Amino acid sequence: MGLKPKPQVLFGRKEIEATVSRLAAEIRSDYHDKHPVLVGILKGAFVFLADLIRLLDFPLEVEFIRLSSYGKGKESSGKIRVVQGLDSEVKGRHVLIIEDIVDSGLTTTFLLDYLLQKKPASIRVCSLTSKPSRRKSPVTISYLGFTVPDKFLVGYGLDSGEEFRNLPDICFIGGDK
Ligand code: 5GP
Ligand code: MG
Repeated sequence: MGLKPKPQVLFGRKEIEATVSRLAAEIRSDYHDKHPVLVGILKGAFVFLADLIRLLDFPLEVEFIRLSSYGKGKESSGKIRVVQGLDSEVKGRHVLIIEDIVDSGLTTTFLLDYLLQKKPASIRVCSLTSKPSRRKSPVTISYLGFTVPDKFLVGYGLDSGEEFRNLPDICFIGGDK
């Protein structure tokens, strides 16, 4: 009993709210007249995306994509495949990828390559968090919420074994991975 790690708050809900507002303002200024397609990465980005789009008061579309990386535990193996693809065409559209975390960068790099094959008019990345110390593949994040240390994050959509997605704060568990 009581052996499960208790999540510690890294960024509280007020700070998240302010950061999502800042990102929305940046995205608004670049995309308000572009009718973009926001592509949320399931499952982790769904809370972030839900909060973000309600602050964007211009026409946009939402798509989801689900990827799986063959790997054990908390490390991305780099062997990624699309489990659930897009419902609508992104050819000629302005695409904005909405991520929860860019960690090694392998997932985002894969996704950029995958979507670029569909010939969008433009493509950029918006990520709630980034762990630059873990990068294996360089990724340009045009809209970044928080730079985070090398800790395992949960809450605000992020899970550990499907637990903790419902926490309203961004938390970490344990020490380093
Ligand atoms: P990458 O391919 O950049 O190494 O990892 C991308 C994915 O790994 C993220 O979108 C996320 O789903 C998962 N991930 C990486 N770090 C963390 C973390 O600290 N917490 C959780 N819950 N997922 C993570
Ligand atoms: Mg993810």
